[in-house]
Amino acid sequence: MNAPASILSRKADFPGLTTADGKAWHYLDTAATAQKPQAVIDAMSNALGRDYATVHRGVYARSAEMTLAYEAARRRAAEFIGARSENEIVFVRGATEGINLVAQSWGGLNLKAGDRIMLSQLEHHSNIVPWQMIAEQTGAKIDVCPLTEDHLIDLDALETLLTPQHKIVALAHVSNVLGSILGVKRAAKLAHGVGAKLFLDGCQAAPRMRLNMQELGCDFYVLSAHKLYGPTGIGVLWAREELLDAMPPYQGGGAMIDKVTFEKTTYAPPPQRFEAGTPMITEAVALHAAIDYVDALGPESLFAHESGLAATLRDELRSINSIRLFGPDKSAGIVSFEIEGIHPHDLGTILDEENVAIRAGHHCAQPLMAHLGVPATARASFGLYSDESDIDALLRGIDRTKRIFGQ
Ligand code: PMP
Repeated sequence: MNAPASILSRKADFPGLTTADGKAWHYLDTAATAQKPQAVIDAMSNALGRDYATVHRGVYARSAEMTLAYEAARRRAAEFIGARSENEIVFVRGATEGINLVAQSWGGLNLKAGDRIMLSQLEHHSNIVPWQMIAEQTGAKIDVCPLTEDHLIDLDALETLLTPQHKIVALAHVSNVLGSILGVKRAAKLAHGVGAKLFLDGCQAAPRMRLNMQELGCDFYVLSAHKLYGPTGIGVLWAREELLDAMPPYQGGGAMIDKVTFEKTTYAPPPQRFEAGTPMITEAVALHAAIDYVDALGPESLFAHESGLAATLRDELRSINSIRLFGPDKSAGIVSFEIEGIHPHDLGTILDEENVAIRAGHHCAQPLMAHLGVPATARASFGLYSDESDIDALLRGIDRTKRIFGQ
């Protein structure tokens, strides 16, 4: 196992990894949402308690301090993902809202009948449905880039399929079902080659890869804090400042305006233009703590650790008969599989009795399930706190399940 020592001792930082009666809980559903380290829980608790006040409006000291903390979180997020400026960081409710924002605001301005949107076969519903909605509103059409045999987004096919009608290419940086990693630089070159923008869904990449928006070459990027060991209810939309500048507001309300009269409203510049209403104050403070936590360990170490565990699990599963594995051998800490004759839900339920939590279902990727020819898969996904004891518990549970099913 190639985990650095700094990561190996981290289980104790996560109070959620123990059952109510003090036993180890083998949490293998980090791709759905990550457990929170005590540092994040404390940051959120302090922000909700002793430090709590609104931001941007208060004339009293507590509000001014909270405003500084909220804007410090924005600067920290900008630094963490290598943005050029904090003005490129829009706080949204999560990746889903970020995608809807870009689809409606950028798409509403830039898409028209005859234009095309390129998605891929492995996208999460969050990176499909918002594009379908704006396609219906504008008359644009959607195309789907296929996968290679080993379940990567097929960039050779993308090169063939892209035309000057394509205005945006929206792809997962890392697949939430298969752990497939996108060749971002080539995807950006191909998209830009036909004059399209590249939108990346970074939900699964941000918690396990060192990101640099200047180097990736994409135009939009979204992530959810709750997958990055932070709280639910907040995410980041990154976009180049000039793109945000040109985009109309997504929602109207307080905090996003410059001047309001009944005749006409003018809007604040980005990012405030896209943050209508009282923002996610405590969540931003906790996201800051989560970024500090992950950054101190190093996203590249997390990647090495989790992909090492995924490779070990894949090897173990390969030696068990009647197991079918999905996804590429080199995956980002996510392993999808099925056991012939056992529904993933049955497997998940029996594993739960052993304090092993996996995900069973379509993982919000029904078009991918259709492509794989299965209604559902079982998915084990690793986090920075995962270790071989979790793999051992999963394998014991699979063995028991197979015996229950007479295999
Ligand atoms: N895209 C991917 C790849 C995801 O894994 C998820 C969450 N499962 C989402 C989008 C949606 O994220 P959220 O529910 O946090 O908005």
